[in-house]
Amino acid sequence: MISVSEAREIIQQYGAALQPLSMKLQDAVGCRLAVDIFSPLDIPAYPQSSMDGYAFSFADWQNNTGLQIKGEMAAGSSDQFKIDPDAAIRIFTGAAVPPGADTVVMQEKITVINGVLQIQDEQLKKGANVRLKGSEIKAGELALSAGMTVTPAAIGFLAAMGITELLVFPPPVITIIITGNELQTPGHELSYGQVYDSNSFALTAALQQCGVKQVQLVQVSDELEKLTHQLKQALEQSDIVLLTGGVSVGDYDFVVAAAQRCGISTRFHKLKQRPGKPLFFGTKESKLIFGLPGNPSSVLTCFYMYVLPVVNKMINGKNGLLIKQVPLSSAYQKTAGLTHFLKGYFDGHTVNPLGAQESYRMRSFAGANCLIELDEAITDCDQGTIVAVHLLPE
Ligand code: AMP
Ligand code: MG
Repeated sequence: MISVSEAREIIQQYGAALQPLSMKLQDAVGCRLAVDIFSPLDIPAYPQSSMDGYAFSFADWQNNTGLQIKGEMAAGSSDQFKIDPDAAIRIFTGAAVPPGADTVVMQEKITVINGVLQIQDEQLKKGANVRLKGSEIKAGELALSAGMTVTPAAIGFLAAMGITELLVFPPPVITIIITGNELQTPGHELSYGQVYDSNSFALTAALQQCGVKQVQLVQVSDELEKLTHQLKQALEQSDIVLLTGGVSVGDYDFVVAAAQRCGISTRFHKLKQRPGKPLFFGTKESKLIFGLPGNPSSVLTCFYMYVLPVVNKMINGKNGLLIKQVPLSSAYQKTAGLTHFLKGYFDGHTVNPLGAQESYRMRSFAGANCLIELDEAITDCDQGTIVAVHLLPE
């Protein structure tokens, strides 16, 4: 059995970014840009009013304080005209400022007497309230650099440039294979001896939270032939395969045997940790295979500790969960030998190890916001002991 730190070192060797893929802008959130993006146009594409008010030539106004109001520009108007000398136009936010004008006064700072504009704005400067053409970005200028993560704000910025497709490093294609003759799908009646499959739901949700939207799901009974067949197929269609259950030493546990039959190289099997001791990790070419234990709490713990870091690395080059060093709010009994991952609640100051830590239980996990990591060498911890806490995604 290897240690948690050895397992992390092994997994760290994998998870290279996938080949860049062209994606629709709205699907690319969370991905990393594969190329520099240059603006195809000036933004704004024309001098643009940032206020509801009146547009005019600043020099004309300085020479002739009463400007005759002639014409109007509303947002979206494509009227093309030049403002007459010593004239002003009514203008609204977002509208093009026509040639002949360089300044806009807000409507709160004027009066109009007999169609003549009187400006009461001592602070007004030439060019006020006009967004110059290309002041946000000019055509051909670098907008975003390769390697940057596409955030919602970046998507807005790119959409404003009229961009609809992006070359990004795509999220891995992932197949989840759940094993277990006892599994029933929620929504169907539960017979004696059955349990609802919850692992596929928790894993799919966790994957969605880290940016993997397309997850394929396969259910297999505890039969070596069938599992081998499904695993082979999943390997052809996916970058990562996550199996749950069947990875231990029982007579109906076939994950390791099926992996061998599929030509998967075992990188490790079994770790000095609780929960999740039977975890399996294998590779075949660039494909990664995680045999997660069946117990729901082990599944999600192993996902956060070992799968998430590699998925994040592939998508955006980032690591796993954020780690903080925090004092324990209550004592915890532990013997040396295994690393413990405890469901905990971090209140911003101290971390409380929750009850119901057994691997079949999800109740406390559902109320946890972190996993406390107690190294294998650690024995009983007093209240106030500083421990490593992995903050779960909100
Ligand atoms: P196994 O590792 O296959 O022996 O499974 C260990 C425990 O996890 C058993 O109690 C299983 O019923 C349970 N289990 C396995 N797969 C699932 C699943 N998809 N959803 C919920 N519980 C599961
Ligand atoms: Mg099983």
